[in-house]
Amino acid sequence: MSSSTKSTSPHVLITGSTSGIGWGLARGFAAKGYNVTLNGLAEPAQVEKLLGELRAEFGVQAWYSPANMMRAAEIRDMVLEAEKRGGLDVLVNNAGIQHVSPVEDFPDEKWDAITAINLSSVFHATKAAIPGMKARGFGRIINIASVHGLVASPFKSAYVAAKHGVIGFTKSIALELADTPLTCNAICPGYVRTPLVEGQISQQAKAHGISEERVIREVILAAQPKKEFIEIEALSEMALLLAGSAGKAITGVSMTLDGGWTAR
Ligand code: NAD
Repeated sequence: MSSSTKSTSPHVLITGSTSGIGWGLARGFAAKGYNVTLNGLAEPAQVEKLLGELRAEFGVQAWYSPANMMRAAEIRDMVLEAEKRGGLDVLVNNAGIQHVSPVEDFPDEKWDAITAINLSSVFHATKAAIPGMKARGFGRIINIASVHGLVASPFKSAYVAAKHGVIGFTKSIALELADTPLTCNAICPGYVRTPLVEGQISQQAKAHGISEERVIREVILAAQPKKEFIEIEALSEMALLLAGSAGKAITGVSMTLDGGWTAR
């Protein structure tokens, strides 16, 4: 499909959308008629499968950017390419990774990767998206932060620092954009059962020598009073609310879907 295809349908770019929450959001937006640009680390066959699914199931246009969220120039080019596809209405900054370790053993390269992917990529993509959004008089920036942007857990220093940074950045951009039709908000999920969390479940089961079921109950969901994973569909609905007309007056906030975690 030509990268300059024009369309009247709204267009969303979702970083880190070849898996987990990002892919769920892509399906949620496509179901509402949005054309979608996917991004993430994936094999070509997997990318074709995902694009084919969006086109066939929802009848929307779908593209893919292989931009690495650790590289500023690739992020900027991804956004500018997306702009050419009939404009970019919604930017969802979602790509993220995790590493769990006591800070004194935390590998320097993991700190650098987490702060680059989870925080700096949000800056680079937002910076690149704003001029086009301003020129067209519409824009929604949605940052997938985390409950760890609001409260901390031990052994997740880089992730917690980066996610707190995302929330600070969100507020600052919301104020900068307040005299424009653009908005910038964060969504803060508690635990969602995605490959990122599956990795933590198996690591913790090994570390504690207990079953994965016990890890889910006693470790992963220990801080989440509702004791249920957050559903990706609920995150999609929240993102669509922020992207839609009701989202016009919502800016600079952190929408928390955490099963009661931060009520403690
Ligand atoms: P996931 O591992 O399923 O998906 C991560 C996505 O990011 C994948 O598409 C991956 O390819 C992409 N990605 C990773 N490194 C990249 C890079 N360098 N360049 C481009 N893409 C890259 O994870 P997820 O659980 O869906 O997490 C998505 C977001 O939601 C993250 O920001 C995460 O911090 C946040 N989050 C997740 C949970 C949860 O419980 N799963 C809770 C709160 C917040």
